[in-house]
Amino acid sequence: MAIRTIREMGDPVLNKVSKEVKEITPRVQDLIDDMFETMYEANGVGLAAVQVGVLKRIVVIDTTGEDPLLLINPRVVETSGEQTGNEACLSVPGKTGSVTRPNYVKVVAQDEDLYEFEVEGEELLARALLHEIEHLDGHLFVERVDGPLLDVEMADEEA
Ligand code: ZN
Repeated sequence: MAIRTIREMGDPVLNKVSKEVKEITPRVQDLIDDMFETMYEANGVGLAAVQVGVLKRIVVIDTTGEDPLLLINPRVVETSGEQTGNEACLSVPGKTGSVTRPNYVKVVAQDEDLYEFEVEGEELLARALLHEIEHLDGHLFVERVDGPLLDVEMADEEA
């Protein structure tokens, strides 16, 4: 396993659309392992493959530090409610801004054997799921910020 370099806003790769994963090759397995390691090392709650420069539809999330979640080819199938809160991103270091999103989301994704499963999330998990899945289509949370993008001294919940 290895820590990979996290791409930052301004890097054009972050605005590209990631491609569907059709096969779990050893390279893809290495990528997944590295994504978890890179996310934990950066104290993030989520990371999309595009953030380490690989245009594959792979997301890792862990909102508690004890619930690693791997999502391959995830898609949002249901949302409801609303939440507003500060959001941050490992690709936008040191910045935070207020984003309103659904409070509940249901996602269908594939696991590391490419078996389909469902995951539901509320509050922070819903926010992380929506934030990361948007990365796969080339979007950053800064596009959704209501009000100014603020500086944070130490953002400890970046995604
Ligand atoms: Zn992000």
